[in-house]
Amino acid sequence: MKRNNNTIRIENIGYHKYKTKQVVECNIDLNGYQRRIVNEYYNFKGRLYVGVEGFISLILPYAINENIEIETKYTVDKTYYDNIKNILKKYEEWNPQKNINLRIHAPIKKKKLVFNRPNRKSLCSFTGGVDSFFTLIENNNSIGGLMYVQNFDVFDSQNKLLDSVLKMVRSVSQKYNKQVIICNSNIRKEFPRRFSPYFGWGKYLHGPALMCLAYPLSPTYKHYFIPGTGKSSISMQWGSSHHIDHHNSSSFFYISHSGDHDRYDKLKIMLGKDTFPLEHLKVCYKNKNQAYNCSKCEKCYRTIICIYLLGYKDKMKTFDQNVDPKKFLEIQLGSHEYNRGRYFQEKLARIYDELHPNHS
Ligand SMILES: [Zn+2]
Repeated sequence: MKRNNNTIRIENIGYHKYKTKQVVECNIDLNGYQRRIVNEYYNFKGRLYVGVEGFISLILPYAINENIEIETKYTVDKTYYDNIKNILKKYEEWNPQKNINLRIHAPIKKKKLVFNRPNRKSLCSFTGGVDSFFTLIENNNSIGGLMYVQNFDVFDSQNKLLDSVLKMVRSVSQKYNKQVIICNSNIRKEFPRRFSPYFGWGKYLHGPALMCLAYPLSPTYKHYFIPGTGKSSISMQWGSSHHIDHHNSSSFFYISHSGDHDRYDKLKIMLGKDTFPLEHLKVCYKNKNQAYNCSKCEKCYRTIICIYLLGYKDKMKTFDQNVDPKKFLEIQLGSHEYNRGRYFQEKLARIYDELHPNHS
């Protein structure tokens, strides 16, 4: 039934345990548009937290930007409730002309939630990219588990690519002695971009979607690292950033956006310590014909030239060795990649010139 009274309702949060998976799900009524979010955790032995905070984070960009009240009967952690008000402030800075707001109608729980598990470690999202590897290597001592979510970056329909990525995530977890948590989620299917621009995956949704999957793991992990996408000095509206992510923390689960460096500097620091990532790096999002890395897109070129300039080209195993690294300096950037791409073209051209003073 369509209920159209300008409210987002989070309802029927459910939990199911099967032999090989645990499931946390809920109904989200987006102003009359009914969605059912289903998040699955395969072969995870720990207990899951079945609460509302992760689902609130998931719909915050939509609720704030559309100025629609969120209503739920589920208790919200007081620290979380106070924290997310800072997200509104950030959106106001980015969109000074817009009439945006954050309104939540829910019972608030003042008492701090305490899990009966000492020494909870940190959790890290892991996709095999530069940001993931950097976060893992920089925080190796505190990280206890790596989380990978199917149907976020690679889809069930890309079965060959998905197999390779899952194999990579398992190899990396084994190498660094981490627990691996493979999840599956229908968030992208249930929140399509065509329904609202505020479901745009890059600009709004990917960070909140990851938090929605991570919150249930809080009985085992006290801290969640989202591998960062750039430097904190760049205040750009993006779905996961140094400016937003930590404001989704609660009294029992701390979230942070990690790694305050650009891609070149991350590779420099990381490969100086450990070249193992070069055997598994997966950065491509084009994935034409289910290629692990296409070695032809802006992101692949951008990564290849960094590796080349740092002197590790012969060690890279997951890109075409024959690509001319200079190509990145010459490609025409599309509008969506222009800002970041231009910054790198200028920086890497300078480094290239220093290394090749006689080239024309
Ligand atoms: Zn590519």
